Amino acid sequence: MIFSTASPEETKAAARTVAALLRPGDLIAYRGGMGAGKTTFTAGLAQGLGSTAWVSSPTFALVHQYDGPTPLCHFDMFRVASLEDLYSTGFFDYLEGGAVLAVEWSENIEAALPEPHITVDIAMGEGDRRTITVTGDERFL
Ligand code: ADP
Ligand code: MG
Repeated sequence: MIFSTASPEETKAAARTVAALLRPGDLIAYRGGMGAGKTTFTAGLAQGLGSTAWVSSPTFALVHQYDGPTPLCHFDMFRVASLEDLYSTGFFDYLEGGAVLAVEWSENIEAALPEPHITVDIAMGEGDRRTITVTGDERFL
């Protein structure tokens, strides 16, 4: 599935489309650098999964949870450099919890990512343009 967006609102709308296809236990591994729109996309996921909460970057907390019909756990692995760090985020407990997991800087925990998982790649274009590519399951073909 590929979306071309030109504003944060369009990125959230794309995420709501993806959210409608998600199932409890799915893990989304983001690709895309600082300011690409990973947190913005996650805000749309939370909306789509039925949360009305304000979504902010879990930079310092490492994980934020949003409760709705399907809970969403939003991780920021930017500062996670070791397996010990990863354990301390509670990541492995959340994996079993039936929530949807959305993981920023998933590159940092590559070896610990469960298979299969869904990849959301956000590439920055001119100005506010973003190309969002969702892969990893036939639901997104
Ligand atoms: P990340 O979590 O990947 O670092 P954020 O979602 O926190 O990125 O920030 C993305 C920034 O880019 C925000 O300031 C947002 O307003 C801006 N932006 C501009 N155009 C877009 C777009 N099409 N989609 C998402 N964010 C956009
Ligand atoms: Mg972010």
